Amino acid sequence: MRVYLDNNATTKIDPLAKVKMQPFFEELYGNPNSLHKFGMEVRPYLNEAMGAMYDALNIPDEDDLLITSCATESNNAVLKGIFFKHILPNPAKNHIVTTAVEHPSIGETLHFLAENGVEVSFVDVDERGYVSAEAIQAAITERTVLVSMMWANNETGVIFPIEEVALTCKEKGILFHTDAVQAIGKVKVDLSATPIDYLTFSAHKFHGPKGIGALYVKKGRELPNLLHGGEQMGGKRAGTLNVAYIIGMGLALKQSVGHLEQMNAEVRRLRDKLEAALAKIPDTIVVGRGAPRTPNTLLISLRGIEGEAMLWDLNKAGIAASTGSACASESLEANPIMSAIGEDPELAHTAIRLSLSRFTTEAEIDYTITAFTKAAERLRSISSTYGYKAEAL
Ligand code: PLP
Repeated sequence: MRVYLDNNATTKIDPLAKVKMQPFFEELYGNPNSLHKFGMEVRPYLNEAMGAMYDALNIPDEDDLLITSCATESNNAVLKGIFFKHILPNPAKNHIVTTAVEHPSIGETLHFLAENGVEVSFVDVDERGYVSAEAIQAAITERTVLVSMMWANNETGVIFPIEEVALTCKEKGILFHTDAVQAIGKVKVDLSATPIDYLTFSAHKFHGPKGIGALYVKKGRELPNLLHGGEQMGGKRAGTLNVAYIIGMGLALKQSVGHLEQMNAEVRRLRDKLEAALAKIPDTIVVGRGAPRTPNTLLISLRGIEGEAMLWDLNKAGIAASTGSACASESLEANPIMSAIGEDPELAHTAIRLSLSRFTTEAEIDYTITAFTKAAERLRSISSTYGYKAEAL
């Protein structure tokens, strides 16, 4: 059996989105900015896809949804855009607040800005992997220009208090950005109801194609263009539009938001079943258990078992999981969440993330429970440290 439980890294394309994209690789390949028939005939489809995205996230008509190549680009555009537009002309307001557990497209960009004089506060998570609104408020100073906080964490699935933080920022006149990559299709996102200035997402995390994403910008919060060139996107982000992928992203977004209930009922039930079974293995910790979490994610740590070893055994059984974010998989560093929550350093290398999707089946979960439990027994039996650790507990 082949079981894919790494949906926080990427997802398979929604079969309906794939079908809907096909004509745009074949007969409907015109450039939508061209004035001839080939160009003009694709425009209505483009408008329909954009409209679907505005509807899915309840985006007011006057706000912008800029198409980008991915969430990494969107996150860079917000942070560097704020730097150029607000911080450079007014260095008295050069402070950005974020969390210690953002995706590298936020964390690394902020380290780069810090090297260029920006003051950044990385607010730590608590023992559940949660960051409270109070902790963010405590980090805000007179100099704060922006708060950037992810909506849901990619490793634990822990959901952060976005509504509360957005309101605080609004009251204090501070800009607010959220990386909603792991929230779309799992949490209700309503851009008319929550005072968010900037929001980013990536299509391949919700069964759309890879290499396409978006940046929501509230009216009045426009950022300088970082990709100069043609007049696409109203001159706000140049580059020929990838029509097929925009069509795919539009449909995938509509479908994911339409399946929110299924995600929160059926996918949650399967995740909880998996979690309950794996938590019975002695000396395991489910990270983020006491906090609100997305319904599809399970981060589990087994004392005495290297995450990489577990991954290897699962892979042999045909199961795809991960030890953390795919972006960090080339380095064998400790899982940053395990370090951030301040757990025993011995546990830092033991985390395994299993992330489901609405295409995950009960049979796949049952198979995973058996294979994972067997792998844990095997690895514990050959672990030189486990006996000692168990006694120390
Ligand atoms: N933000 C979060 C929370 C993510 O999980 C990811 C991808 O793992 C990204 C941003 C970056 O997405 P992309 O690689 O599509 O740019």
